[in-house]
Amino acid sequence: MLIFDEITRNNHEQVVFCHDETTGLRAIIAIHDTTLGPALGGTRFYPYASDQDALVDALRLSRGMTYKSAAAGLNLGGGKAVIIGNPKRLKNEMLFRAYGRFVQGLAGRYITAEDVGTTVRDMEWVRRETDHVTGISRALGGSGDPSPMTALGVFVGMKAALSFKTGAESLAGKRVSVQGVGAVGRHLVDFLVQDGAQVVICDIDQDNLRAVANKHPDVLVVAPDDIYDAAVDIYAPCAMGATLNPDTIGRLKAHVVAGSANNQLAEEDRDGAALAARDIIYTPDYVINAGGLINVANELEGYNDERAHQQVSGIFDIIQEIFRLAATEGVLPYKAANTLALRRIAGISQIKNHWCGVQSQGRSRDWIR
Ligand code: NAD
Repeated sequence: MLIFDEITRNNHEQVVFCHDETTGLRAIIAIHDTTLGPALGGTRFYPYASDQDALVDALRLSRGMTYKSAAAGLNLGGGKAVIIGNPKRLKNEMLFRAYGRFVQGLAGRYITAEDVGTTVRDMEWVRRETDHVTGISRALGGSGDPSPMTALGVFVGMKAALSFKTGAESLAGKRVSVQGVGAVGRHLVDFLVQDGAQVVICDIDQDNLRAVANKHPDVLVVAPDDIYDAAVDIYAPCAMGATLNPDTIGRLKAHVVAGSANNQLAEEDRDGAALAARDIIYTPDYVINAGGLINVANELEGYNDERAHQQVSGIFDIIQEIFRLAATEGVLPYKAANTLALRRIAGISQIKNHWCGVQSQGRSRDWIR
């Protein structure tokens, strides 16, 4: 693998390899684009099969964060880090503090948070060595668990899609299937039930399923594979990725897909087109699930619950703007989301050409909308 070719292929700005002999830390921090602001993205702790896999993942994920922050209207760039190894064996305070010192060394160009394999507790260890970390517990002034805010974003994004498709914004009487009632899905069910929707759920985890079914006795429970055949208006994938594929799309009765899962389309072009051919409107995953990111970004200005709620609710307008753009330009919604993100980055980079005084020129605050 030619490392510089990999890094320059999608125009990454900087990639940092971190090594600490004492703790066994081996990490890669990838900064994709900082046009809009410092690169924010979580730290993934994963036993990659090879260093190459780890680099490719860091590059892919950091680029995704550039688009996600830009589309969400945040003044943040895209970054991501991976720690290579088995978190169950390697995790300890020293390792995370060693990692935190590398993050600190980037002087705020990269701001980290939790991701797969890392927790709020781990980030609190990181915080002992760096200011450039988010996703801290509420007790320490942070934003805490992002899942309720992710669910709120999905809820308002779903309403935006429904309103675009049918003109109706309320979910009262609408049938919605939620695949996966974990951290995000169970909060989404709360919002849906409260709004008067008829909800169908499934999960492979019986405890999660039972908790939601006990709380909401009117919710209908189906077997995991039956979720694709459920007679619903809206399908909300809130479990794993790639559930929209040639095996499932033909089975869907829903005319709106709006859920939190990452990478819902198994293959973007093929499956995006297959949904459109069936007149099913697809709400781009990385935009509708940005509530958690908007929530952690709030920490950078001093966390404020009311402001965070207001900003996450803004996902409604962003989704509608994406659908309007898709209709005007005759493209699929996920392409329109990418266009919206790229145009914002290009536009902001232009206005930064103007000199605005010595005091203001280096201003790098206001991460959030
Ligand atoms: P979670 O692990 O808490 O919940 C996922 C649930 O899906 C679990 O209950 C699991 O048992 C269930 N599940 C797994 N496979 C299933 C299957 N085949 N059929 C039915 N249920 C299945 O995860 P989460 O934090 O709720 O996240 C859900 C999705 O949203 C993930 O794809 C995640 O990447 C994405 N996401 C989450 C957040 C967040 O704030 N938590 C933010 C952005 C995106």
